[in-house]
Amino acid sequence: MLTSTKELLEAAQKQSYAVGAFNMYNLEGAKAVVNAAEAENSPAMFQILPNVLNYGGSALIAMFLEAADSAKVPMSVHLDHCDDRAMIGTALEAGIQSILADGSTLSFQDNLAFTQEMTDFAHAKGSTVEAEVGRISGTEDGMTVAEKEAKMTDPEEAKEFVAKSGVDFLAVTIGNVHGKYHGEPQLDFDRLAKIREKLQIPLVLHGASGLPATMIQQSIELGVCKFNVNSEVRKTYLAFWREYGRTESKSDLLDCQKSATAAMQEVIAEKMRLFGSAGKA
Ligand SMILES: [Zn+2]
Repeated sequence: MLTSTKELLEAAQKQSYAVGAFNMYNLEGAKAVVNAAEAENSPAMFQILPNVLNYGGSALIAMFLEAADSAKVPMSVHLDHCDDRAMIGTALEAGIQSILADGSTLSFQDNLAFTQEMTDFAHAKGSTVEAEVGRISGTEDGMTVAEKEAKMTDPEEAKEFVAKSGVDFLAVTIGNVHGKYHGEPQLDFDRLAKIREKLQIPLVLHGASGLPATMIQQSIELGVCKFNVNSEVRKTYLAFWREYGRTESKSDLLDCQKSATAAMQEVIAEKMRLFGSAGKA
């Protein structure tokens, strides 16, 4: 059933678990999340990246909204990492539950101005907003410790940003990266604890693919209520088709779609158990 993102994350915050927000691209992805969520009796979120929305258009949003609404468990649909006012408008008009108004490439003041504007816009439409203070990297390769720290969320800045912008959720940067971690992930939990002391709203951690269970647990204890997952599920899907291309053992496309869905479902269900959301729907 379609539920507001705010409701999903506040329930998670109260009961100390986190909701998985899965970046999905197509029908197989939609079915994989719904199947896993229903099998695990877990709340869940769909996330759509702007380039995927650009490609799929309103039909894609409609498909995710319908899949979420017809699911037996609470689900919402979220626009991920968007800095485009027009696209945010399209998504809100289509009835999306929440957006990440991403001004993280801008200066603090410009990010704040952009986020304030998008938050007023989204709230007027009954949607909620995630913002990013600090900048989540695609990779840490070649960065010095000072460079890494400069991109991390400053607790004082985060407090000011949330108070002035009125955002509902905050994505933090504490050493998490998008995509693959090179070597052991290094998360700055002292920083997360300081952010938590200053903020009561649900916190979000991007780049959860590849984080060990102990780090996931510690993040939840320090206020993370939403983990973004993309790489691991996407790689599973691509690996399925790569293998299919190599062997061509099956010729029925529908059978292949079902198998690809099942492969993703397994990875997603494992994340739901890891995040503690299994059994919480
Ligand atoms: Zn992200």
